[in-house]
Amino acid sequence: MKILVLNSGSSSIKYQFIDTNFKEALAKGQVERIGMSSAVLTHAPKDKEKIKIVGEILDHSIAIEYVLAVLLSPNHGVIKNKSEIEAVGHRVVHGGEDFSGSVLITEKVMEVLKENIELAPLHNPANIKGVKAAQLHLPNIPQVGVFDTSFHAKMPHHAFLYGIPFELYRRYKIRRYGFHGTSHRFVALKAAEMLGKPYEELKIITAHLGNGGSLAAINMGISIDTSMGFTPLEGLIMGTRCGDLDPSIITYVMGKEGLDVREMNALLNKHSGLIGVSGESSDMRELEQAVEDGDKRAKYAFDLFTYRIKKYVGSYIAALGGLDALVFTGGIGENSVAVRKAVCENMQYLGLDIDFEKNEKVNGKLDVATENSKARILVIPTNEELVIALDTEMIVNEQLNGLTK
Ligand code: ADP
Repeated sequence: MKILVLNSGSSSIKYQFIDTNFKEALAKGQVERIGMSSAVLTHAPKDKEKIKIVGEILDHSIAIEYVLAVLLSPNHGVIKNKSEIEAVGHRVVHGGEDFSGSVLITEKVMEVLKENIELAPLHNPANIKGVKAAQLHLPNIPQVGVFDTSFHAKMPHHAFLYGIPFELYRRYKIRRYGFHGTSHRFVALKAAEMLGKPYEELKIITAHLGNGGSLAAINMGISIDTSMGFTPLEGLIMGTRCGDLDPSIITYVMGKEGLDVREMNALLNKHSGLIGVSGESSDMRELEQAVEDGDKRAKYAFDLFTYRIKKYVGSYIAALGGLDALVFTGGIGENSVAVRKAVCENMQYLGLDIDFEKNEKVNGKLDVATENSKARILVIPTNEELVIALDTEMIVNEQLNGLTK
C-alpha cells in the first residue's frame, strides 16, 4: 500500500511517501516556516534530484497543496495521479487516555483530539491542522492517527500515577502518559527479531535518545514504565529540557527571578538540559567536541546526561525483574560511541557487558555486548514514519475486511 505519512508541527510539516510492500520511502521532505512569506519546501524523491522551493505558504492547507504538487510533479514526483495515495497516516502526539492503539480518523476521533488539546497545547493543535488539511485535499482517502502515547497506555497504575491528590488525576487527567511510543515499539520489535526470540517473551529496555529522549521498560511486549510523564519534560536530561527535577525548584526560581508561568515553562523546556548546563550547545556532537577540547561545563552536561540514563536503566531492570536487551536508538543512541560507553560501563553486575571495540564499529544495527554478557546491548536505527505507515495499512485493511464481512 502507498501511504503518505505526515508529521505536522506548528510551523512545519514533515512527510514521507512510503510503499509498505517494500518498506521504503519513495519520497521524503518537509515544509518549514509555514505562515511566513519565505517558507521552504525541501523534497527528496528516491532516485531523482532533490529540490528546494522558497515561497509564501501561509497555512497547513497550502503546505499540503505544495506537497501534493511535488509528489505529482513530472520531474521530481513519484506518482502520476492523486489516487495512487491510498491512505494518509498522521503522527499525533497526545491521545490522552482515549487511545491505546492507532485509529481511523472519524469525526468522533477529531472531537476527542480537540478535547486532548489541553494535554498537549503545543502539539495537538498542529496535528489537527495537518489532518484537516489532508482531509480537504484528499477527501475520499482514509486518514489514520498514530499516537506517541498509545504504546504506553497499558502501564500499571503504580507507574502512571503521581504522588499528588488523586482528585487531580480525576479532574485534570494528570498522570504519566509517555511519548516516543512508535519508536520504542519499533525498536523493541526489531530487537526481538535480532535475538530470534518471541517479542512476547522478552524483557527489553529501549533508550530513544534524540533532541528529546526517553527510556521505556517493555515486559512481554507491554510498556510497563517510561521516563517521560504528563508532558515530554520529565525524565532524562535532553537537548533543551531539564528532565527530572525537585518540584520545589520551580516555585523557588519563579520567586527569586520574578518569572511568570510562561517564562518558567520556557526556562525548563528551552533553556535547560544540555544547553542550560553546558552553556555551549544542545547538540550532542558539538558537546562531545567541547568535552574533548577540555570544556568543563560541557563535561558536566555530558556526565549528567549519561548518569541519568544509567540510573533509569538500573531502575527499569528492577521494575522488569531482569533484562534480555538494552536498545539504543535516536540520533544520539545510534551514533554516539561515548554515550553508549558511559551508560554501559561497569554494569556487569546487572548483566550488561559492553564490548568497547564493537561499540566503536556501529554502522546501522549491531549487538555491541560481549559474548559473555547476560543481556544484549543493541543499537537499532529507529524509523517512526515506517511504523506510522504500517499501522495505517493495518487499520485500513481492518476497515476493508470489516466492510466485506
Ligand atoms: P530528533 O529528536 O529531533 O529527531 P535526532 O534523533 O536526529 O533528533 O537526534 C539529534 C541528536 O543526535 C543531536 O544531539 C545530535 O548531535 C546527535 N547526533 C547525531 N549524530 C551524532 C554523532 N555522530 N555523535 C554524537 N551525537 C550525534
